[in-house]
Amino acid sequence: MKKDKKEHALNFETPFQYAPAPESTAPVKLKERYALFIDGKFQAPSKGIYLPSINPATEETLALVAVADESDVNKAVKAAANAYKGVWGKLPGKERAKYIYRIARILQERAREFAILETMNGGKPIRESRDIDIPLAAAHFFYYAGWADKLDYAFPGRKAQALGVAGQIIPWNFPLLMAAWKIAPALATGNTVVLKPAETTPLTALLLAELIQEADLPPGVVNIITGAGETGAAIVRHPLVNKIAFTGSTEVGKLIQRSLAGTDKRYTLELGGKAANIIFEDAALDQAVEGIINAIFFNQGHVCCAGSRLFVQESVADQVMRKLRDRMSTLRIGDPLDKNTDIGAINSKEQLQKIQGLVKKGIAEGGDMYQADCSIPKKGFWFKPTLFTGVSASSTIVKEEIFGPVLSIQTFRTADEVIEKANNTPYGLSGGVWTDKGSKIFKVSKQLKAGVVWANTYNKFDPTSPFGGYKESGLGREGGLHGLAPYVHLV
Ligand code: ADP
Repeated sequence: MKKDKKEHALNFETPFQYAPAPESTAPVKLKERYALFIDGKFQAPSKGIYLPSINPATEETLALVAVADESDVNKAVKAAANAYKGVWGKLPGKERAKYIYRIARILQERAREFAILETMNGGKPIRESRDIDIPLAAAHFFYYAGWADKLDYAFPGRKAQALGVAGQIIPWNFPLLMAAWKIAPALATGNTVVLKPAETTPLTALLLAELIQEADLPPGVVNIITGAGETGAAIVRHPLVNKIAFTGSTEVGKLIQRSLAGTDKRYTLELGGKAANIIFEDAALDQAVEGIINAIFFNQGHVCCAGSRLFVQESVADQVMRKLRDRMSTLRIGDPLDKNTDIGAINSKEQLQKIQGLVKKGIAEGGDMYQADCSIPKKGFWFKPTLFTGVSASSTIVKEEIFGPVLSIQTFRTADEVIEKANNTPYGLSGGVWTDKGSKIFKVSKQLKAGVVWANTYNKFDPTSPFGGYKESGLGREGGLHGLAPYVHLV
């Protein structure tokens, strides 16, 4: 007993250290190369081109992944069109639901494998892929499976008709979750799919293709093809594609919108953001600080709805800054497969360079930078959690989406002032309000021009809740009942 007490005392004197807790990669069985998933089979790309997909935390190649050209895109779209005409478009909702439920259940059963692969390919902490990305992806399939035979209730008095082939292009920040957001409502409403994951993170979408084979979905109902922007552009302009669902940068969103102008294709665009996270003096400050951390450092800040512009009421600004720095000193950055890691690797070298460039600009324009004092691994792509003060609405880092762990901080005195400041952006995806007063939550959130506003919390997602933006953050909603509408004609 005595000895135990002594050991305890010793532990308190030395700084607290976490023992390594790495997740095993054993459940993941990677293939050497991945072909294109078209018409229910993996098929080699017509030009035979494959590119490496790497682990951003180690820079090791995980697998070679096919690059689809125009003729491969054509094959995939034709397979989807045939599957729509031949099978899926004719199948009653309750039969479609069975397949979608099956996908959801298998995803739950294989959740560990998907989570590990998501972390290996994208660099996000295993804690996040295990507790957020994969369970939420399964939840989306469950949720939309439930709607498949209830569309008459979703649109009372109207008949919902499928559109046909949906072309879906997704980004690299939530690879499997974005695939689920897009595929689940498309299938529930009777459409077939050609989906393209992002070039840096295709592996969980390809594992989903294997799962879809296992679920015995009729061939061609879901096609998953890989490649970069060119492949995406070929999907967008294909004449047999009836709807485009895109999540990605505002820049590419604008290109897609231009390419779709004058066609009868339907589209939804979920683009960039530069959300205001607003802390009032009457907020529970410790919780608010936790919310600030989650809003900007979750998924290394690779989040379109990240709370990247912090507004703190002047009277509590010093206190919040002190608490924020304290909390940052406890963040653990490093091996994404370690279960204790808070901040993983930056998704790619290109993204790291983009973040570095913008941070340099922030300093050059006179901002005061503060970085968490932590060591980062030698190999791989990393960026320390970063704060900027001494910035204003005209600073580049306040205006532009950084898509990294970089927070700019400004102060305010009154609610009206902060509403004006928060809305002073071309984006309008999300926002956060922290206050003890319910009335203030309503006043502020009603006036924020943003698709999603969280109150006393941040980055909370649920399949029943619609998500989407205003202004340059895009158009259309995904998730919830609203997420069904872009996939149907109502007659
Ligand atoms: P990010 O900034 O997140 O990399 P992008 O908008 O560049 O976002 O990429 C999102 C998705 O859009 C990726 O799957 C990418 O391959 C695809 N993409 C890039 N350029 C185009 C394009 N011109 N047309 C269609 N899709 C594209």
